[in-house]
Amino acid sequence: MKKSQYIYFASSNKDKLKEIKSIWPLKNVAIKAAPYGFQVVENGKTFLENAYKKASTLSKKVKAIAFSDDSGIEVFELGRKPGVKSSRYFRNGKGMLEITELVKNKKNRKCCFTCAIVATDSKGKTIFKVQKSWYGKVAKNPQGKNGFGYDPIFTIPYLNKTSAQISSKLKNKLSHRAMAVNAFAKWLRKNKKILI
Ligand code: IMP
Repeated sequence: MKKSQYIYFASSNKDKLKEIKSIWPLKNVAIKAAPYGFQVVENGKTFLENAYKKASTLSKKVKAIAFSDDSGIEVFELGRKPGVKSSRYFRNGKGMLEITELVKNKKNRKCCFTCAIVATDSKGKTIFKVQKSWYGKVAKNPQGKNGFGYDPIFTIPYLNKTSAQISSKLKNKLSHRAMAVNAFAKWLRKNKKILI
């Protein structure tokens, strides 16, 4: 790939951008942040719908290929909520505590982090999409200080640690975002001609 290649990332979430950049395996393709103030109303019913909306809005604006990540936590006992509403539900951590309270005495603590990635061309047409989930259990109490969002209540069963208790290096090998970003990068490697 040529040195000058880049791709826009359609998000105003700094934590996500940071994670995406540290996962990104293509050394010759730089990730460009969306212009300051970029915002899209995320009213889709699915992660894929929201991811499409963000990527296509930015693609049309900058007239270039863009991709976006729409993600969230799905708690099985709560009918997979908060799901696409995870960001709104978080409310400075209140939503996270609410979840631990709601599943407090439940047998089924299963949950997953889900990440959808959609890439669109300069006209806003989908050129790639993927959705991946990382399965775990809701922790009894928030634990750990790394990561962001719901990481303190997402227990990785075989490590018996939350995703806020592991290093970002390890999270970026195991996570929903790592799975989805790597799938996108693999596709991009095979289709490098689409980048200028
Ligand atoms: P959105 O994709 O911008 O709608 O926001 C997704 C929201 O889901 C974030 O603001 C977090 O609250 C939550 N979320 C998504 N991925 C993660 C993660 O890797 N760790 C913790 N929380 C996450």
